[in-house]
Amino acid sequence: MVGKYKRRGDGFETSRLPALVNRLCFFYMANLSQPRFLDYTLARTIADDFGTPVYVYDMATLKANAAAVLAFPNAFGLTARYAMKASPNAAILKIFNQAGLQIDASSGHEVRRAIAAGVPAANISLSTQELPTDFAELYELGIEINACSLNQLERFGQACPGKTIGLRFNPGSGSGGNNRTNVGGPASSFGIWHEWIDQVQAIVLQYGLQVIRIHTHIGSGSDPAVWQKISGMSLDLVRQFPDVVALNLGGGYKVARMESEVGTDLQECGAPVAEMFREFAQATGREIRLEIEPGTYLLANTCAVLSTVQDVVSTGADGYDFLKLDTGMTEILRPSIYGAQHPIYILQPEVTGETRAYVIAGHCCESGDILTPAPGDPELLATRALPLCQIGDLCVIDGAGAYCAAMSTKHYNSYPEAAEIMLDDAKVPHVIRRRQKLEDIWANEVTLG
Ligand SMILES: *Cc1c(COP(=O)(O)O)cnc(C)c1O
Repeated sequence: MVGKYKRRGDGFETSRLPALVNRLCFFYMANLSQPRFLDYTLARTIADDFGTPVYVYDMATLKANAAAVLAFPNAFGLTARYAMKASPNAAILKIFNQAGLQIDASSGHEVRRAIAAGVPAANISLSTQELPTDFAELYELGIEINACSLNQLERFGQACPGKTIGLRFNPGSGSGGNNRTNVGGPASSFGIWHEWIDQVQAIVLQYGLQVIRIHTHIGSGSDPAVWQKISGMSLDLVRQFPDVVALNLGGGYKVARMESEVGTDLQECGAPVAEMFREFAQATGREIRLEIEPGTYLLANTCAVLSTVQDVVSTGADGYDFLKLDTGMTEILRPSIYGAQHPIYILQPEVTGETRAYVIAGHCCESGDILTPAPGDPELLATRALPLCQIGDLCVIDGAGAYCAAMSTKHYNSYPEAAEIMLDDAKVPHVIRRRQKLEDIWANEVTLG
């Protein structure tokens, strides 16, 4: 239920239902079932042994997701990559490497990180907004590079004339969930705009480059019709480059974190794509290999943040009941910037059945640190119906695998980095990143005088 106050405004009023009706509505929004792979006993053990807040990953789910991605329908072979920016911990990279996934890196630093984690350079593809200064050296190590702008292509040509290269295009349309996640169309800077093919061909000719890969990551979503449209536009680009042997359709597959959300059926989306590759082969004689590189799909529901309710406050009869956690935007930033919804559970030793509507706040001194924004609108508060809560209760924020540990307001308010834990196949917890020591936060600082 969306509430009365704009968080960053000055008490902006929207219509507000009477308190009773308000409360009744919450039962509809409630999620009173269990977290995906944590129950009270396991959560209590982890909290006691490792402290909170803590990220808890589930190895079995990671492996199952890898298998689902590797089973993506294809006509002439598949390379499936993990977009490691979703969560780059070495333990996760290692599990996926062993499962047969390759890597999509978003920066030169990610390339080095993947290599350090044991991923062979030949299994890493770089598509980046900022071509690193050492790109030629990385290329010599064996990585693949997709030029993502005319300038990147020019620099690659100068440093590596005659070599093989991929081209990331912006095909002119995107399907991201909102302006902040849209990665195609004229409002997106990602990739070479599709109308600049003549300039591309000129640079390719000048340096004798061999274009062997076309890449279009525009956020394919969960709609099979969108997948077909993107595949058609991308195959049209392949047509214009006779040396291309692989087409990378990127990632961006929607995942249902909340029960009400719609996820992506990879088999359903992939079948018509495979068919289009077959038709393309019939028309041109070229059997194109398919590449995909999801991040969210592989990670979103593989991790929960386990936290402790450290305060409960009220703002009176016309206000809200707030739960304050020992986590927040320092571990999960997505609600604050996208209005993203995550399942939230209170775990107690005994279930009483009594519920209350709570706004859940993070621990930062920042009004934007809210874990229950209105869906898609981080400016508005919403509430969740949760068990009546005591200070000290455990709170699980589920669906926290993608873009959470990887993308947060790290060190804001000087909170150290939380630990990361992996549950092995027998659900035994192992540390995969130690909790940061407080003094490490300022270890690189230098005082003057
Ligand atoms: C981020 C990214 C992905 C993965 O996107 P998800 O939405 O996490 O699936 C894939 N390819 C490229 C080039 C990316 O930048």
